[in-house]
Amino acid sequence: PTRSLQFLRNSSSEYNNDACSLQAKVRLRIIVVGAGLGGLACAIALARRGHTITVLEQANQLGEVGAGIQIPPNSSRLLHSWGLQPFLKSAVVEPDGMTFRRWLDGKVIGYTKLVPQFRENFHAPYYVIHRAHFHDALYRKALELGVQVKVASRVEKYDIEAPSVELASGDILKADLIVAADGVKSVARKFVLGGNDIPPERTGFAAYRATVDAAKIKDDPEISWLLEKPSVNIWIGEDRHVMTYTIAAGESFNMVLSHVDTSDPATWKPEKALKDMQDYFTGWDPRLTKIIAMIDKTIKWPLLSGKSLPRWVTPSSKVLIMGDAAHAMVPYMSQGAAMAVEDGAALATVLSLIDTAEDIPAALMAFETVRMKRSGQMQAASLLNGKLWHFPDGPEQILRDESMKAEVEGRSF
Ligand code: FAD
Repeated sequence: PTRSLQFLRNSSSEYNNDACSLQAKVRLRIIVVGAGLGGLACAIALARRGHTITVLEQANQLGEVGAGIQIPPNSSRLLHSWGLQPFLKSAVVEPDGMTFRRWLDGKVIGYTKLVPQFRENFHAPYYVIHRAHFHDALYRKALELGVQVKVASRVEKYDIEAPSVELASGDILKADLIVAADGVKSVARKFVLGGNDIPPERTGFAAYRATVDAAKIKDDPEISWLLEKPSVNIWIGEDRHVMTYTIAAGESFNMVLSHVDTSDPATWKPEKALKDMQDYFTGWDPRLTKIIAMIDKTIKWPLLSGKSLPRWVTPSSKVLIMGDAAHAMVPYMSQGAAMAVEDGAALATVLSLIDTAEDIPAALMAFETVRMKRSGQMQAASLLNGKLWHFPDGPEQILRDESMKAEVEGRSF
């Protein structure tokens, strides 16, 4: 630990900004397991530094499930510095502001101006984007950097000493380092933890995801104002909230409808999801329920949060987990994928600072120390928003709304 902390002290300025083009002195053959947003981001970060990267994905086809995703500036700054801008440019929407609205009537209770404040304060934009477009941008950049992506390659077993992976086909692939970004149902996590998995747990929150054709909203004067300027609007109320923004160059209206649901997801009936969702929001702002009524299909997701893990890196320092496999979180800070992007940047940075392969364990320990702390804070903050946004009308809700008022006063809506 002393060596790893010393290492961090020496490298802290480098860690904070991945814009440098520092090439790794120790070039490694690295397998990244999982071609989700996290795995591809990590592959890009590592390939930029001169490592040879193979990504193994279990699915037969690459892609992303769900519709929209927010890319906050801590993530967009890294993506820009990695040269993703040309791939993202035509796909992203940059919302003007984020507005919190009262559940009953949509009255504004809080507002955060994003443009130009976020570019000025954080030197990077706040984006929203269709997940498929984000994934495609990462994939194309990875290919440009020479990353090899193999589909239909499910990893079944890890040899944490070799290190190597065994695929479902029986093939064994060896590398110098294996990075598993294999999501909440991670196979790697059990191997990293020495046999006893500690999977993410249900939080009692669930979310419906859906999109509405923006043209339908544009045609209705009662709700068309939602599209006048690209913006994020969040209606908040007891045990529920609805997050909305436009994606796909403004053509699609993305909605995440969250609510408290402690029942077992195994008992959920997909065919009832649409009706249940509409019932949950009965009595809310009529302009919102009008849009909810336009939804013709939806999927309900249980929202999980990862538990604090004793380690992310094997004692052999040859296999590690990152992204949702290591730190799943509820999406109430819009930071799950952003944390995976940061993981990739941090890993690439610590590995680029070592002079010999002997220093890999110190580098990985530094990675683990920094990333566990940062993502742990984000997991906690995300759960906290799940409380703050869901107060029933009453003293806590009044106090919350009062505290948000300063941001609203003096603005016209
Ligand atoms: P995954 O996306 O789960 O990818 C894992 C990949 O590994 C998959 O492709 C899978 O097929 C593959 N895989 C799994 N096992 C194996 C195996 N054994 N062998 C080979 N391949 C394997 N985050 C944000 O930053 N902003 C947001 O606005 C946001 N909104 C969200 C809204 C909702 C409703 C939800 C549920 C999440 C949201 N998130 C958001 C979180 C974000 O979606 C995740 O944190 C992110 O997608 C995790 O990426 P990952 O690559 O770690 O895992």
